[in-house]
Amino acid sequence: MMQETYQPQHIEPAIQQQWEQNQVFKAVVDHNREKFYCLSMFPYPSGRLHMGHVRNYTIGDVVSRYQRMQGKNVLQPMGWDAFGLPAENAAIKHQVAPAKWTKENIAYMKNQLKSLGFGYDWSREIATCDPEYYRWEQWFFTKLIDKGLAYKKVSAVNWCPHDQTVLANEQVIDGGCWRCDTPVVRKEIPQWFIRITDYAEELLNDLDQLDGWPDQVKAMQRNWIGKSRGVQLRFDLADRDGAVEVYTTRPDTLMGVSYVAVAAGHPLAQEAAHNHAELQAFLEECKKTGTAEADLATVEKKGMATGFSAIHPITGKTVPVWVANFVLMEYGTGAVMAVPAHDQRDWEFAQAYGLPIQQVIAPSDEQAFDLTQAAFTEKGTLVNSEQFDGLSSDDAFEAIAAELQAQGKGEIKTQYRLRDWGVSRQRYWGAPIPTIRTQDGESVPAPESHLPVVLPTDVVMDGINSPIKNNPEFEHIELNGEPAFRESDTFDTFMESSWYYARYCTPHSHDRMLDPAEANHWLPVDQYIGGIEHAILHLLYARFFHKLLRDLGLVNSDEPFKNLLCQGMVLADAFYYLNDNGGKEWVNPSEVDILRDDKGRLAGAKRRSDGKELSYSGMSKMSKSKNNGVDPQEAIDLYGADTVRLYTMFAAPPEQTLEWSDSGVQGSQKFLQRVWRLSYELLQQGDRTRVAPDDLDKASKDARRKVHETIQKVSDDIGRRYHFNTAIAAIMELLNTLQKVDLSSAAGRSVVAEGLEAIIRMLSPMTPHISQALWQAFGHDGLVIDAPWPELDSSALVRDTLQIVVQVNGKLRAKLDVAANIGKDELEKMALADEGVQKQLVDKTIRKVIVVPGKLVNIVAN
Ligand SMILES: [Zn+2]
Repeated sequence: MMQETYQPQHIEPAIQQQWEQNQVFKAVVDHNREKFYCLSMFPYPSGRLHMGHVRNYTIGDVVSRYQRMQGKNVLQPMGWDAFGLPAENAAIKHQVAPAKWTKENIAYMKNQLKSLGFGYDWSREIATCDPEYYRWEQWFFTKLIDKGLAYKKVSAVNWCPHDQTVLANEQVIDGGCWRCDTPVVRKEIPQWFIRITDYAEELLNDLDQLDGWPDQVKAMQRNWIGKSRGVQLRFDLADRDGAVEVYTTRPDTLMGVSYVAVAAGHPLAQEAAHNHAELQAFLEECKKTGTAEADLATVEKKGMATGFSAIHPITGKTVPVWVANFVLMEYGTGAVMAVPAHDQRDWEFAQAYGLPIQQVIAPSDEQAFDLTQAAFTEKGTLVNSEQFDGLSSDDAFEAIAAELQAQGKGEIKTQYRLRDWGVSRQRYWGAPIPTIRTQDGESVPAPESHLPVVLPTDVVMDGINSPIKNNPEFEHIELNGEPAFRESDTFDTFMESSWYYARYCTPHSHDRMLDPAEANHWLPVDQYIGGIEHAILHLLYARFFHKLLRDLGLVNSDEPFKNLLCQGMVLADAFYYLNDNGGKEWVNPSEVDILRDDKGRLAGAKRRSDGKELSYSGMSKMSKSKNNGVDPQEAIDLYGADTVRLYTMFAAPPEQTLEWSDSGVQGSQKFLQRVWRLSYELLQQGDRTRVAPDDLDKASKDARRKVHETIQKVSDDIGRRYHFNTAIAAIMELLNTLQKVDLSSAAGRSVVAEGLEAIIRMLSPMTPHISQALWQAFGHDGLVIDAPWPELDSSALVRDTLQIVVQVNGKLRAKLDVAANIGKDELEKMALADEGVQKQLVDKTIRKVIVVPGKLVNIVAN
């Protein structure tokens, strides 16, 4: 017998147990049903779920359950992106090995996910720190080396001279070491790279196939790949042998070159510094600049002349060669031609060092510009360019390229901004790179018999060096009877997250990376869901990996993710007070009492513990820095999972930001209580035999029409557009209608029963526990998720009567209930005959009558 009140704390664990016992979400290949692979980006096991996770995974679960109700065979797996730096930091802080810390976090978060009722196939759970998983990544990497797609080269890292260790980008804070504040320098060490640049063109072109991806994400990827058409050209050196190669996408500005700038690592810079102490010191200083491109945009532009001159390839005049800190060896040729009049960075540098700024492009229209204030960077018409004067930038591109080619000094070249993917990390908590250094210093892939190269997990972290570095037990091995050294670097954790979606299809293949039959059945992922912060690197690397898997014969599709949904951020109120130093101290919203005015607006805020007055800074992204995170666990404990899920889906469309509000959550809970209450009242009445539609009275017929209008709207909103919030709003409206129906009549009970059974099913993707409990209470065996989606009875939508609005000169004067099939003429007659309308027409002449069938009659009179 059904409880009188809604008690999620009792229902939810019982329903979850029922799912688990019956393995309801175990996915098995079934060729008779259409497959649907729904995947949410797996979490890093940081300790507890945050609200962003809850939103991400609720959307994924709602989509999965909805698709299952559409008859599809759904795969929805879950796992853990378990390697990474935070585990090392926690290990140092709490004196616990990263493996243990990670395992405990996984156990806790798994329970949280279960308590939210997510329908995952846990039999496919993956943790990337498990050797069963990363062994195949290691195996795959050795294949890439064999194919020439992975290679080793010297490359720069961030280095702390005090700790004698490599730092991750996150560990460099304002140019200093996070641990000891020593200024960080660049250090060149040998590292492994994967040739993603070989796939640049395909990664770019295949974006056109991804119709189910947000345009914004595709644009970000295009920009990251950065295909450009330009000219590679040569400036010969004056008075000596040698040349400087540069690449430019603006050869039309070539006649305005006033200097050439090279990177500190460029051979010419190194040579110039030999007997030049000041320059030597400057090159050292340049090493301190970060290795990321983002650093270059913000760094103060500094440089020094090398003393060398270069010959302009067309005019034959000499220009000085400078070293500049904003040019990097890692990008292009390590040298650039500088055109201060038409490039802002070159302009800033020329201003700082008094180098000439020569205009060679004039705006094509009346556009204003002032070269004493900034560079003019648009295209236009060439001036001060000798034989090229008067050409448009586009024509000059071709003409200048042709001239350079004719002289053997340059050629047109397509270039990508994308660099090869450096996968070596000098950290501990990652998958060991499966290579071996022989006594000759050669790096070779580990033989298959050495795999997996298992990361030792029983370690003590000293907070400085990776425990597998300078560790003979790990590093000293034998290869073909000779002493050799194991690589002690680990993979970038983007490696693990680049193929987990494929391994979920075949998680128990112990003798191979993927079972192609299983993988090709489920792939590609039909719906992928995750944050926009992964729009570039993770998604690009996963797309790249998929193509590598394809080219090794492991999958047969070109792209891993058919449809992509990037959920919006979760925002919350943020409160602070000013401390004695004038700094902001942020107070968590859970510790704040809010005063509201009679319109519900925030009128003041006080800290609950001591009544301290607080300032309100508005809604912002839940974050540690503003201390405005809302712990989902508190909301789950207080209201139950269904309420949190419903609120999450109701408060905003998935792609938009969600403003967390406690009163909103309470509203969602109240709605579920009302669904429960009405179900209880109906079931108390006993008999709810269906009454044939023709035998319903008018009120019941109207209510039944509302039921089917709602089914139509909800099916469309969810099925076609994933607009869950408007679907939920429509269901709420339907409940209002049903609550007004008279349950003492058989017709009323029939319609309310029909309506509630529709509501229970339509809500079940969002609120699976209460829906299952009510489904059973209504006498159904089995699972609501396997019940068919409510079917639309379009005959119920037909209206016998319609309400027509009558206006006189645009003002509402009457409402008429008329037969739905009334003719235009008859409707006009009825409108004119209405008493209220007649009164308005006294002493007036009718000029025009406009009839909009089914809606309104407007009479124009004066
Ligand atoms: Zn340090």
